[in-house]
Amino acid sequence: MDLYQEVTAIKGIGEKTAESLKKSGIITVRDLLYFLPRDYENYQTAVKIADLKPGKVIIKGKIADLKTVYTRRRNFTITSGTIADETGSIKAVWFNQPYRVKQFDEKKEYYFTGEYAFKANKYQLQNPSAILAEDVAAETSHLHPVYPQRSGVKSQQFVKFFDRLRPQFNQIPDLLPLENAPSFVRPAARKDALYSAHFPDTEREAEAARKYLAYEELLGLILASALSKAAAKKLRAAPLKFEAKNTKALLKTLPFTLTDAQKRATWDILQDLEKTTPMSRLLQGDVGSGKTVVAAIAAFQAIKSGAQVALIAPTSILATQHAEGLDKILSPLGVKTALLIGATKHKETVKEQIATGTADLIIGTHAILTDDTIFHNLALCIIDEQHRFGVKQRQKLLLKTPRNLAPHLLSMTATPIPRSLQLTVFGDLDISTISELPKGRQKIETKVIKETDKKATLYPKIHQEIAKNHQIYWICRAIEDTGTSSEVASVKRQAKKLQELFQKQRIEFLHGKMKPAEKDEIMSKFAAGKIDILVSTTVVEVGVNVPNATVMVIEDAENYGLAQLHQLRGRVGRGQDQSYCYLISKADQPTRRLKAMEATDSGFKLAELDLRLRGPGEIYGSLQHGALDLNIASFSDTALIAAARKQVAAIVKNLEQDPAYLTNYQELSAGIFHYQKLTILN
Ligand code: ADP
Ligand code: MG
Repeated sequence: MDLYQEVTAIKGIGEKTAESLKKSGIITVRDLLYFLPRDYENYQTAVKIADLKPGKVIIKGKIADLKTVYTRRRNFTITSGTIADETGSIKAVWFNQPYRVKQFDEKKEYYFTGEYAFKANKYQLQNPSAILAEDVAAETSHLHPVYPQRSGVKSQQFVKFFDRLRPQFNQIPDLLPLENAPSFVRPAARKDALYSAHFPDTEREAEAARKYLAYEELLGLILASALSKAAAKKLRAAPLKFEAKNTKALLKTLPFTLTDAQKRATWDILQDLEKTTPMSRLLQGDVGSGKTVVAAIAAFQAIKSGAQVALIAPTSILATQHAEGLDKILSPLGVKTALLIGATKHKETVKEQIATGTADLIIGTHAILTDDTIFHNLALCIIDEQHRFGVKQRQKLLLKTPRNLAPHLLSMTATPIPRSLQLTVFGDLDISTISELPKGRQKIETKVIKETDKKATLYPKIHQEIAKNHQIYWICRAIEDTGTSSEVASVKRQAKKLQELFQKQRIEFLHGKMKPAEKDEIMSKFAAGKIDILVSTTVVEVGVNVPNATVMVIEDAENYGLAQLHQLRGRVGRGQDQSYCYLISKADQPTRRLKAMEATDSGFKLAELDLRLRGPGEIYGSLQHGALDLNIASFSDTALIAAARKQVAAIVKNLEQDPAYLTNYQELSAGIFHYQKLTILN
């Protein structure tokens, strides 16, 4: 079997099905083979209706009396039917699945799997899935795979495809070298695992299959990042010499001393810059941990060596703040900074300064990498609030640096990367962590407030803070109310409502659809204390610094991930005064996430929890494209990660000695390429 031919090569898969599968990324036979069941049903555990107990159940029976009723609320239907076996009958209901009315043959028996629960005054089987009993009877194993539905292709169809492929599994070649692999990687392990995953005889067999396939997946990710690291080592960069007297001079001008964690991170970076291989380092540190000054020290070393530095921020607001902050630190030492954003006046003059080398530190958004800006001697590039440079960005940068030299790269982020991700997806980066906040920082008091309690508990607090001339952020999910749904607070409606409640206060709103110049104006007014309450979407999320703001109100807080809530909370507590974060929830009970926000102020702990609750794709959005959404493995498989790392280290070593080492494992090389495209070429 050729694993890389398209799925239409399989009997029974026509153009139309292939098109649907393609929408879910299943293009080749290989893709299909690796599309694994999400669960297995054991139909032997079916119970008689007379013996039913509440909970998840399987029943075998016939169904009759199917009908659908439309409820008053639009778009809401309830379909019901009566399921009967020889011991009795029960009612089955489906919500918003009107097609169920036509799905069944009343003369045939089905297995129904669903939740048997008390609802609307009686026990019912809720939203059961169903499968023809005769289909199950034809199967040899009693474990019936349940596949996730994809673009209209149902679980039962997948069962049929795999059944047709069954005789061909024998032709699946091995993927991994056996050397330095854990014991479950043996000849034919892959073929066996794939077969068992689709047709297991026992649960244990299914589990073992999953373990092997998870191992493969982790190994692919880790190997891709290890090879990417090895490739980066071959590049050359301009060494930027450390001179103690320069760094000391800068440190002397600061109104504070560095924390120990800042010192360690700084030292990592300054040493990297001296090398002739380009730095690829991630600086992670909680909001307010002081990453900017570390970047300034690094920039100063580069500039003192005669090089230019670019600092890239995610928004113009942030670029502007960085330009102001860095100029304050560095201009007394003779450094010329230049801000290049959309709103910059006399752009041509600024670009001229950059091209001639008059400007030492250039601050802007991503545009400075893609537009026609020419650098005189760029050697260090710092990117704020991002986890890493994408390969496209790196390639653009190579065009901007002189003499085929690669720039040193430093990315900074306040969303920390849990260890399991560091070891896998981020293995190509060196990581420095600022693990402590500067002394004397106050803990931001965080409270979940029920929507209905706002008047009693929130508004008085707002009055108090306004009386102290403090400022307030008020975050809403939506920009404006859309159609009938006003379930989620919107910036425009909230601003209006607050203006009615706080008539004397200056209230403005901010959102991502405003023109950059408008946004900048509002943000500058807020920073200058000319706005009391800023109602905004999450555009204020990253980096913005307004020390006089002491209250962060987040509407519909349960709609955000922990990392994002923590980032938002970090907008306050930047000055001397006690600050507060209020998480507004419409739920009766706060969710686990919101409770975690109340309980901890450690961004690192929150990120670990977020990873467990939501998975990495949601958190590290900029890296999406599937790379972080493992199909089979989980980032909590620490033992598998350790084993895969061990084998990867051996493979890399072997490759150094013998570049042809993987020749017999062509598919593995191709797989790595696949991962590299996903993770690195984002
Ligand atoms: P972030 O890591 O979130 O980017 P910043 O670099 O913006 O944090 O720093 C937050 C604030 O803390 C700034 O006002 C900065 O001047 C201040 N700061 C940085 N390092 C120290 C320190 N060691 N001691 C006291 N204040 C510091
Ligand atoms: Mg910052």
